[in-house]
Amino acid sequence: MEKNENKLVTGRRDALKMLGLGSAAMITGGFRKVSSDKEAKEQDTIQKPPVGMAPVKIKSVRAITTKAGGSNLVVVKVETTEPGLYGLGCATFTQRAEAVVVGINRYLNDFCVGRDADNIEDMWQSAYVSSYWRNGPVLNNGLSGLDQALWDIKGKRAGMPVYQLLGGKCRFAIDTYTSVSGSTPEQVGENVLKQMADGQRHVRIQLGAYGGVGTIGSKPDFKDAGFGMPRDGFMDDKAYLRAVPKMFEGVRKKCGEEIELIHDIHERCEPRDVIAMCKQLEDYHPFEIEDPLSPENRHWWKQLRESTTIPFAMGELFNNVNEFVDPVINHYFDYIRLHVSQIGGITPAMKVARLCEWFNVKTIWHGPGDVSPVGHSAQAHMDLACWNFGIQEGGGVFSDQLREIFPGCCTKKNGYIYVNDLPGLGIDINEELAAKYPITNSAGNWTVRKRDGTIIRP
Ligand code: MG
Repeated sequence: MEKNENKLVTGRRDALKMLGLGSAAMITGGFRKVSSDKEAKEQDTIQKPPVGMAPVKIKSVRAITTKAGGSNLVVVKVETTEPGLYGLGCATFTQRAEAVVVGINRYLNDFCVGRDADNIEDMWQSAYVSSYWRNGPVLNNGLSGLDQALWDIKGKRAGMPVYQLLGGKCRFAIDTYTSVSGSTPEQVGENVLKQMADGQRHVRIQLGAYGGVGTIGSKPDFKDAGFGMPRDGFMDDKAYLRAVPKMFEGVRKKCGEEIELIHDIHERCEPRDVIAMCKQLEDYHPFEIEDPLSPENRHWWKQLRESTTIPFAMGELFNNVNEFVDPVINHYFDYIRLHVSQIGGITPAMKVARLCEWFNVKTIWHGPGDVSPVGHSAQAHMDLACWNFGIQEGGGVFSDQLREIFPGCCTKKNGYIYVNDLPGLGIDINEELAAKYPITNSAGNWTVRKRDGTIIRP
């Protein structure tokens, strides 16, 4: 009997070694003991699922930070009473990283220690209201990290990748888009062709920076007048609105009709101007247009939707899952741009995704470089399991430095992202290496002004 138990453990110990967990004690508690040699043999061949798992409590919740790759990244590590069993989640809010660290180490840890690591929904609901005031960035980022880490633990306990816990695969891999830019339509077209040669089927095209900041337009009179700060950006919105249809025309001529084109307006123009420009873009049939309006312009969404058949993607700035309800059930958006490391993690993101399914709205999780590789893994597992997956931004390309710090990162081939099949999120962190790249306390600079110096909301 003991021999058989050992055999079972050894196989799973190997899996743990791959994750660098070092202990198999957590697994042994998860399997029913065999009572005879005959039954032991059956267990070997049938591979029964774990039954009656021993409870596991949370021992600590803490933030691990790194600036490898150039952005402040914050990862939550949840350690448990089971030696070697822990989970990781992304809590990155790169512009206010140190505030998130305090939220995790000084508050979330106290709140979570001693609680049951298995009850993810209960933990989410209780942590969510624990500060009374809720739904803000910083605390939501910490909650996202905690939630993802608990799903990671759940997967490790079950011996399954998280996508299996969410219902299994709906597709063999995850189609992606990548972004290119240039200062002229010709340059943008050249860069799209390079991506197409690399196997990419969807490309987001931008003229220079978002909104053409620093690339298009002239006369930042506020700078001549000494208004604002020298580093403040300038956007000539009329020049931008004229340039975007020309960019689409140029790229279509150069790259043909098959490549799917995306563009991010980044919420920076007046609603009536956005409507007029999007009507012009119909001729170039974009795959989707991102962030046409700022969240503050929510009363324009209906008019925007009714004015054009262009598909829209929005929501990366939403803090509260309730913000998705109206636009989804009224079909104001075709895709939701939910920032998983901000909205509260896998638990609320899956609820929004399921709501979207009923209204034929699809997912495009927000996937910029300031989502950690752990966050990208969490998104990839949901991408595999959601029927109404649209496409994924970024997520499979990481520097060698990041891959060394985060063993188990997603990989990308021919425009598709792949996850490994290790239990949980399949990703680990090398804390020693991560610490070699300390985060910096920088307030960020999303300051962009009109010609006269008026602030433009991103
Ligand atoms: Mg965007």
